[in-house]
Amino acid sequence: MYNMSLTALSNLEKSQVQEFVNSFDTVLTDCDGVLWMESQVLQGSPQVLNKFREMGKKVFYVTNNSTKFKKDFVSKAKNMGFICDESEMISTSFLTANYLKEKNVKKAYVIGSGGIAQELDRVGIEHIGIGPDVVEEHFVNYIKNLKLDPEVTAVIVGFDEHISYLKIMKAASYLANPNCIYIATNTDENFPVNASLVVPGTGSIVAAVSTCSGRKPLVLGKPNPYIVEALMKEHQIDPKRTLMIGDRCNTDILLGTKCGFQTLLVLSGVTKLDVALGYKNSEDHDENEMVADVYLNKLGDLLNFLD
Ligand SMILES: [Mg+2]
Repeated sequence: MYNMSLTALSNLEKSQVQEFVNSFDTVLTDCDGVLWMESQVLQGSPQVLNKFREMGKKVFYVTNNSTKFKKDFVSKAKNMGFICDESEMISTSFLTANYLKEKNVKKAYVIGSGGIAQELDRVGIEHIGIGPDVVEEHFVNYIKNLKLDPEVTAVIVGFDEHISYLKIMKAASYLANPNCIYIATNTDENFPVNASLVVPGTGSIVAAVSTCSGRKPLVLGKPNPYIVEALMKEHQIDPKRTLMIGDRCNTDILLGTKCGFQTLLVLSGVTKLDVALGYKNSEDHDENEMVADVYLNKLGDLLNFLD
C-alpha cells in the first residue's frame, strides 16, 4: 500500500484492507489506550491480535508504562484474552534495569513505583526512593541535615503517584554530579483515562526534575528507537513489513516513522482525530513524522475485515 496518510481504514474496500493486512508480518503494539484502558479490555483487541497470529504474524507488546513488573504485564494481557509470551513484551521498567546493568550501576535513586523496583531487584541493582517522601515540619532543618547517598550513580524517573518536592530536590541533587546517569522511562504527558480528568504522566515529573537539575534525561521509552533495538537483538524484524499500532502520535507513531515501519493510529486512547489531522496539515516536518499511515476508531474495528 503506497502513499497512505491518515487514511481511514474503515472507508476502504475489504480487499484494500486485506491488501494492507498482507503488507506486514510483524506487529508492534502499544498497550494502554490500544489493548486496554486501565483494567478494562478494549473490545475486539484480543481477537484482532490473536487473528494476526493465526495468519502467521509475529506480535510484540511495547509499553512506555513503567508501573508494573514485566511478568505482571504479561499476566494482565493473558487474563484479558491476549496470547502473550514473556519474550514478546517489552516495558520501560524492564529496559531501564537492563540498561543500567549494562552500565554497571550498583545503586540508583528512583522516582517511580514497584514495577521499577522489581526490575532492578531482578538484575541486582540496589535502589532507594520508592514510596511517599513528604516535607515534615521544619523544612529548613530538614535540608540542613539531608545527606545524599554516595553510592548512588543513577537517577531513574518513571511514573510515581507519590511525586513530591523532596523527591525532585533529591533527584536534582544527585544529578548535580555530571557522572550520575539520568534515565527517564518515558515522557508521556498524561494517561488515557475514561474520565474528564487530566491525569499527569511521567513526562510531567521528568519536566520538573529536568528543570530543577538543568539536565536532559536519556529517555528509553517510545519514541526513542532504543526499545526497538532491544527487540531486534532477539528477533528478526524487517522494518518495511512491520506495523506499529498506537494511540499516541508523539510516541507510538513517531517511533514507527523513525524506524521505517507502517503505522496505525487508533482513536481509543490519547490522540484525537482533530489533533492527528493537525499534524497532517502542518508545515512542520517534525509534526509530519507523527502522522500515521492509517487510522481506526479502535483496533477491534479491524475484525470485520479479517474473516
Ligand atoms: Mg498508549
